[in-house]
Amino acid sequence: FPCDSIRNFSIIAHIDHGKSTLADRLLEMTGTIKMSSKGANKQVLDKLKVERDRGITVKAQTASMFYQQKERQYLLNLIDTPGHVDFSWEVSRSMAACQGALLLVDASQGVQAQSLSVFHTARERGLKIIPVLNKIDLPAAQPDRVKAQMHSIFGIDPSDVLHISAKTGEGISAVLRAIIERIPPPSGESTGKFKAFLFDSSYDRYRGVISLVSIQDGVLRKGERIASFHTRKKYEITELGIMHPEEVPTTQLLPGQVGYIACNMKQSSEAHIGDTLHRVGEMVEPMPGFQPAKAMVFAGIYPVDSNDFPKLEESIKRLTLTDRSVTVQRESSAALGQGCRLGFLGSLHMDVFRQRLEDEHDAKIVVTAPTVPYKVVYKDRTVIVSNPTDFPDIIDTSMHVREVQEPIVKASIIVPEEFLGEMMDLCFEHRAEDVDHRYLESSGETSSRALLTCTMPLNEIVMNFFDKLKSRSSGFASFDYEAAGYKRSNLVKMIFLLNNKPVDALALIVHQSAEQTIGKMWVKKLHKVIPRQLFEVPIQAAVGKRVIARETLSALRADVTAGLYGGHYERKMKHLENQKEAKRRMKRIGRVDLPQEAFFDILSSK
Ligand code: GDP
Ligand code: MG
Repeated sequence: FPCDSIRNFSIIAHIDHGKSTLADRLLEMTGTIKMSSKGANKQVLDKLKVERDRGITVKAQTASMFYQQKERQYLLNLIDTPGHVDFSWEVSRSMAACQGALLLVDASQGVQAQSLSVFHTARERGLKIIPVLNKIDLPAAQPDRVKAQMHSIFGIDPSDVLHISAKTGEGISAVLRAIIERIPPPSGESTGKFKAFLFDSSYDRYRGVISLVSIQDGVLRKGERIASFHTRKKYEITELGIMHPEEVPTTQLLPGQVGYIACNMKQSSEAHIGDTLHRVGEMVEPMPGFQPAKAMVFAGIYPVDSNDFPKLEESIKRLTLTDRSVTVQRESSAALGQGCRLGFLGSLHMDVFRQRLEDEHDAKIVVTAPTVPYKVVYKDRTVIVSNPTDFPDIIDTSMHVREVQEPIVKASIIVPEEFLGEMMDLCFEHRAEDVDHRYLESSGETSSRALLTCTMPLNEIVMNFFDKLKSRSSGFASFDYEAAGYKRSNLVKMIFLLNNKPVDALALIVHQSAEQTIGKMWVKKLHKVIPRQLFEVPIQAAVGKRVIARETLSALRADVTAGLYGGHYERKMKHLENQKEAKRRMKRIGRVDLPQEAFFDILSSK
């Protein structure tokens, strides 16, 4: 395949606007997969259960297809990108292997918050953007109105916009034509020194690490020796090929092609995303590469039954092989035993990982409240703290702590104008600043959409912000955010005490203005789930030496076996036996016995 017969593109869109459905139609039209029965939506590229459950793409998938147009055969490489804020790292790295992107917008929903962010990322990367209006078969579709939005937000000429229904297949051939006509072919020299860009990797038990690469220059064949620019390690190519849509071995990969390679790479940490691969002995200029993904949300993950820790750790290891953006560290807690502290790109990312642990590895786990990375500035150094345990008990200049800073994000919300006031209130309740808005279309009969922007602490959006946003806008608001640095803030460490003993796993970092509300809420929650003991147990929330909230758990009077006196001996023994079993799962905080399940209840209830 000469370079000018290749097109590399991705589909970018807000969640649910139809990326996977369109990908399926393109694969069908080009004969890459069999036609599905009418109306069925196979979504070949979405593989994980959690993706089907939540309707999101977690892992970017790549597929190559052949397309005949006017006597000429083209190789089209599609990179399906995930569709959520937390995954923008995956989106941007897969975009680096493309020259163009289909910007898909749902004709009934209009432009949404993530349409904005994916558009900007694509434009920054210099991709040719093909605007596509999807779901025109829906009675609620408003193509003209949505095109006006696209014009006002993106400056897109309405006459460039394609109209399609990924569901019925209408307009799909025009999409294929536009890919060929509007997206530039990759540039590259087959005679040049071999150079490839590594943009994704996965792990195969038999073949080791499988990397997805985009060939920039030169030709790659089986048996050749390559080296990583980043690690300087050398490998021999044992297999290579294209994704069609499953792996299909080929004899070579040409410039402009996207494909997979297997070499004798044993550890997934060797496959450095953004790395440049070259031939052993040849000197090449490396590609710009990427910023590594930064974990922004941290939480401890513990097994409900402490005996399961080795199994849990193994499951976490296996899962991180398929998702390299998760960071893992061991940690232990007096209350929860041995566990791991994991770092995620965002809170949805965390949810997805947790669900995969439960679905695919059958893990029963307790997840602590999420924490963002804070900067604690001491007189002589700055420390990043992502675990409440490491946060200073009191922020006091005499304690050498100069100040504490928290990560800030720039948030965008798109919402029908009647919800604008409600959304502003919500943002202010979450310490928003620089709140601003504009209307996205001049409103006629129907209500207009507004774009609200503000800055907010990241900490404010990791807990249930999405849920509140959705419920207070009747599901109409869409939300996106990007990192916007750090800012000095008045933060405190809140601890919880049972019978005057702190429970380490429950510590939180909160803004001072919210300490009362949060303290009271958690103390109430604890009061509800902690089983009564043989003595009275005070439950307290405290900041430094100040008690913020308190509840008292009254004493349980009767002996557990009291009711059994005079009963059958066997029944009594059985009861004691059960108790022994229960005891193994008990955690002792001071004199208070807590079943591990209580933590599960405390930490999983909203
Ligand atoms: P993704 O999140 O962008 O990958 O979106 P999906 O491809 O999963 O589609 C989201 C939902 O919209 C699914 O229920 C699809 O069946 C539906 N859908 C996608 N394209 C169309 C279309 O053209 N018309 C209609 N009516 N529904 C569509
Ligand atoms: Mg999808």
